[in-house]
Amino acid sequence: MHSPIFSLEVFPPKSHAPVGTIYDTLDGLEEVNPDFISVTYGHGALHDRTLTARIAHTIRHDYQIPVVAHLTALYSDERTVDEALGMFHKAGVSGVLALRGDPVDGNEPCGVFAHASDLAAYIHKTDPGMKIFGACYPECHMEASCLEVDVDNLKRKVDAGVTHLITQLFYDNADFYRFLDLARAKGIDVPIEAGIMPVRSAKSVNNMTKRNGSKVPSAVEALVERWGDDPQSLCQAGIVYASEQVCDLVAHGVDGVHLYTMNRPALARRIWANVEHLFTVSD
Ligand code: FAD
Repeated sequence: MHSPIFSLEVFPPKSHAPVGTIYDTLDGLEEVNPDFISVTYGHGALHDRTLTARIAHTIRHDYQIPVVAHLTALYSDERTVDEALGMFHKAGVSGVLALRGDPVDGNEPCGVFAHASDLAAYIHKTDPGMKIFGACYPECHMEASCLEVDVDNLKRKVDAGVTHLITQLFYDNADFYRFLDLARAKGIDVPIEAGIMPVRSAKSVNNMTKRNGSKVPSAVEALVERWGDDPQSLCQAGIVYASEQVCDLVAHGVDGVHLYTMNRPALARRIWANVEHLFTVSD
């Protein structure tokens, strides 16, 4: 176990890609030696509900790496959650990241779990041994009226049984420190891992702004402006920027860093090579 915690996130291959491509990702991540890998869960009503569990099983049993399975609430009811938990147990997961998920046009939500806290409470009640992770938003969730309200809602999620939080990506550590102070002041005392996603392309930065409302600080704008048409240089700059973010977070005593790998192991390896010595190994 590293101190602070160092974890990675992968997603199941897109439906048009062969499921075997996940092995290329996992082979490439082996030397990073994370404390755990989390596996995302599809959203909407129509995705393959077994995919996350199958990949979690591979990570746990073929690579011997602890694994956390994501699970979304909006399109789940008690039966599908029970089924998912059964599959996750068989896969040997160390925990479940309980999420609300986002509405998908044309798909009517099940109407059973409105918020992640409802899903967390259900898991806590029906599967008390399962460790429950939750998501949080240093720049405020897009739908919340302000950070104060969002953190009040986050406290409900922790009160419902969440014992470990992972943040949405952010590019400005000052936003994380502000959020952390507020969360601690509101009595949220569980570990909070900082989510870091390296800048890869101008398009990916724009997508993140649109999808999550992530602010793009002038330092990131400058990278995109200078190397937006030169993907290799932008990627290199993104690795340096993310490594500096991690270095500053560790210097400030962060509980953990969760790297969004985007299934690009080379990026994760290069960032890890830059920061590895800042993470000590404890029992
Ligand atoms: P919630 O905690 O339910 O919050 C959503 C909104 O509701 C917020 O504005 C909050 O303030 C408000 N709220 C929360 N509780 C209450 C309450 N009790 N009463 C009133 N308001 C409330 N999506 C996927 O589809 N699959 C994934 O695998 C996935 N992984 C993710 C991993 C991380 C680390 C993060 C940060 C996000 C991930 N997401 C994933 C995206 C996530 O589903 C969306 O960000 C979604 O919009 C919110 O999910 P949540 O669990 O934070 O929701």
